[in-house]
Amino acid sequence: MGWLIPRLLATVLVVLAGALVGMALGAVSHWPAVGALLGAAVGALLHAFFDALRAHRFMDWLRRQHEGAAPRDAGFWGEVGYRVERSVRLLERRVDSEHARLDQFLSAIEASPNGVMLLDANDQIEWCNSVAADHFGLDPQRDRRQRVTNLVRAPVFVAYLQSGAYDDAVSFAGPGSRGTISVLIRTYGEGMKLVLSQDITERERNDAMRRDFVANVSHEIRTPLTVLAGFIETMGNLPLTEVERRRVLELMSQQTTRMQTLVGDLLTLAQLEGSPRPPADRWVAVQRLFAQVQVDARALSAARHTLNFNGGETAQIAGAEAELLSAIANLVNNAVRYTPSGGNVDVSWTQRGDGAGELRVRDSGIGIAREHLPRLTERFYRVDGSRSRDTGGTGLGLSIVKHVAQRHGGELEVTSEPGKGSSFTLVFPAPRVRSSEPATQPQQVDESIDRIGTA
Ligand code: ADP
Repeated sequence: MGWLIPRLLATVLVVLAGALVGMALGAVSHWPAVGALLGAAVGALLHAFFDALRAHRFMDWLRRQHEGAAPRDAGFWGEVGYRVERSVRLLERRVDSEHARLDQFLSAIEASPNGVMLLDANDQIEWCNSVAADHFGLDPQRDRRQRVTNLVRAPVFVAYLQSGAYDDAVSFAGPGSRGTISVLIRTYGEGMKLVLSQDITERERNDAMRRDFVANVSHEIRTPLTVLAGFIETMGNLPLTEVERRRVLELMSQQTTRMQTLVGDLLTLAQLEGSPRPPADRWVAVQRLFAQVQVDARALSAARHTLNFNGGETAQIAGAEAELLSAIANLVNNAVRYTPSGGNVDVSWTQRGDGAGELRVRDSGIGIAREHLPRLTERFYRVDGSRSRDTGGTGLGLSIVKHVAQRHGGELEVTSEPGKGSSFTLVFPAPRVRSSEPATQPQQVDESIDRIGTA
């Protein structure tokens, strides 16, 4: 109310001043009363005119969206300008801070590994993060305010959205080759929907792999078990001669060994998957590995092949000795098993120019057709199942080799030609390879070394 009295006073003063001036001028023409009236009217008009001018300036400032400061007038309009400007600035600050909070909130949702989409009561897209846009094949900016069912046409999703029953998530094939997307809807506010999406392709693949693995293991174990059960029944029911009994026992022993090897390989794989990476500062001499592998390989070959071990006299690999031994033994045993009598198996070590080490096992055996090469390291993948089983294979050897290579930062390279032979190369990165002075005395084979998973 501080402005009211001065404003009334100013109006009265202007009218009075006008009346006085008018009266003075009217006295000259002997019409002082008329002069006073006219003067008061002119004063009031002038006052209204300047008032309108200031109101116009103020309205102009309002129209310019409060750009700059409000007009700094005295009196009523000054007070109005000051108060309105203060409220506007206060509101602007509040809106700015709300915007900042909203931006923070949206960037937190944007950072989520899952998709988040907000739909209004008409299923129009209010907002979605880039993960959801990717899952549903949307453009977060362009598709705003669009009805989601016009853009995402997967029947499972549309039916789920329209069903109103959102207790469980549904999954459907994502757009293009996106794999499988799982979607869960939650309602909020007045008919608004929060759509949460997740790419479950990897999880589904792992589930399928786990199921296949269990099925494969069961199958691999059931076969020898069935054979054993048959022999046990035979021995129990039939009177066998000593020769027949020996033969049956020999076959039973073969099946038992097969199961033992399988369980051994499975344990090796589990151990490789569950243990920390091999140390990078424990050095294993390549010659030591060669010496140990050679013993088993020669026994397996029984002089049917020519076995050569070359190079690596001073080479050392950083890692777990038992794992490295298992990988090389698997490769060498495979080379012997898949090479007919009279063939060659060459095991060699070379250090490349970039410092990486290559441990190559080359054979002149049956070889592998090109289409099988990408799948060789899959668990239980066999090119020729009967040959693998007949020679005591489990189908897990190359998976073990690949795991060991990866755990040592390396990789397994395979080249092969059917009928000509195969070459399996373990490549170890330079930091895991070093060369030492040749030992003056050949190293003794340490029989106490823990051997894991030799096929
Ligand atoms: P397996 O125990 O059956 O030998 P692996 O995982 O060691 O299992 O090998 C997978 C498959 O790759 C084998 O079944 C075999 O068909 C093929 N394979 C592996 N090594 C050789 C090789 N040196 N020559 C030919 N085929 C091979």
